[in-house]
Amino acid sequence: MVSGIVFDLDGVVYKANYAIPGVAEEIARLQKKVKVLFLTNNATKSRADYVRHLEKFGISARKEEIMTSSFGAAHYLREKYGEGKRVFVIGEQGLKDELALEGKAVLAEEGEADAVVCGLDRQISYEKYERALSHLLAGAAFILANADPTWPKKSGVAPGSGAIAAPLIFASGRQPDFVAGKPSKYLIEKLLGMHSILPSQSAFVGDRLDIDIRMANSVGMTSVLVLTGISKKEDVEAAPASDKPQIVLESAAGVGKALGI
Ligand SMILES: [Mg+2]
Repeated sequence: MVSGIVFDLDGVVYKANYAIPGVAEEIARLQKKVKVLFLTNNATKSRADYVRHLEKFGISARKEEIMTSSFGAAHYLREKYGEGKRVFVIGEQGLKDELALEGKAVLAEEGEADAVVCGLDRQISYEKYERALSHLLAGAAFILANADPTWPKKSGVAPGSGAIAAPLIFASGRQPDFVAGKPSKYLIEKLLGMHSILPSQSAFVGDRLDIDIRMANSVGMTSVLVLTGISKKEDVEAAPASDKPQIVLESAAGVGKALGI
């Protein structure tokens, strides 16, 4: 019996600013029956931003019910390196907010840095790359919010956090010391742990085989692929066993029925 359902956001609940039909209504129905949680690799917003963002789509959620790679990267920074670390950020306001709030970090635009934290940054510049590179070459910790190559737009895709980080990896010759986002287990284990839900009693609903489904399978959740985002039906056939979903649905609007809820 499933007692918790975790939804990915981009490509599952919405695409950019366009709601996927019927999903908000299904989430409202499920919220009366099971614990509904949200987990996104998107690091451009904080958890508080997501509460407001979901409201625009008619979904009510508390901050504690939302896990983002911005929160995860900040949480990891504090957990691993302690409070008060000087951090150079390539990323947007949501990532900076979580690093200050959850990571208890000092945002260091000038001077030395203990860590470089990188996420999606739609204002990326050569100058930011130069600064980040100098910190990495000087030995700063290298933390990536997520390694997604792309993220889905209403039609097509745009370069993601992993693509933003690629020039730093190439130029420094270093791999990131830590990647918070899916398919790493870090975010999902934190989120389920915070709500005392066992992976075996929960389902994950995502749109990417190599990210969402791989993560769900690796922790033993029921894996549900929806076809409203990146991965297509024909990709399922070609996927390795680690990335094969247990359930494939046209849309997350049908997830309750598929899980018998
Ligand atoms: Mg997605």
